[in-house]
Amino acid sequence: MMKYRYETMFPHQLREVLSSKPIVYLPISPIEWHGEHLIFGTDAFRARKVLELVWDELGGVLFPTLFIGTDGTKIKDGEKLWGMEMFAEEKIPGSVFVQKDNLYNLLNDVLFFLEKTGFKMAVVCSGHMAKEQIEVIERLENEYSSRVMKVLGWHWGKVKYPEGLVSANPMHAGIEESSEMMSIDLGYVDLDRIGSNTVDVKVGLTREALKNVNEKLGEKRLNYEAQCLIKEIKSLMNL
Ligand SMILES: [Zn+2]
Repeated sequence: MMKYRYETMFPHQLREVLSSKPIVYLPISPIEWHGEHLIFGTDAFRARKVLELVWDELGGVLFPTLFIGTDGTKIKDGEKLWGMEMFAEEKIPGSVFVQKDNLYNLLNDVLFFLEKTGFKMAVVCSGHMAKEQIEVIERLENEYSSRVMKVLGWHWGKVKYPEGLVSANPMHAGIEESSEMMSIDLGYVDLDRIGSNTVDVKVGLTREALKNVNEKLGEKRLNYEAQCLIKEIKSLMNL
């Protein structure tokens, strides 16, 4: 089976993969604050992991992870708050977003060149679930629906998890994401720091809320999501 990372691929390998498995996988998510217990790259790393699992099974080309994303904003006391800051109602250092139009333009440019290169399917996976981020991806999915290369926008909101793989009220940086990150690398989660800052407690990231975080749950969730995505790609590409 043919599978390459774009950045380490030679042109002859590109020609081979385009003639047998013209799929490119694109993980995209911003650097974002996920509480004291998680790393800033959480969303991008989980998106990349899902795509790697799919890539392992179907082959194709894995594009370098784009640490780019957008979110909602509101003004409070003359200050613009982004994403989780809106829920916390205060500034939280760490997140790096781009404006929605910039995300659209950047992705649109990247997809244009992937289509020009000869790919027939681009799978754009976001680990970041902000409404504005998903809207951009869905807009591109629609715009490419009648073009030579199709765009499949993917995020875990599309997955219908079986009982036991999702909590009653999935939270940003909560049990689900924390467990997933643990299954990717134990060093990406610092359990001792859960709820160790006032803003964490304010947005619900408490020891009590996260007491069931575990590696196995994370692994099962990521595998389940990857299997759902594989089904979707197979049906769209008649594989
Ligand atoms: Zn996240």
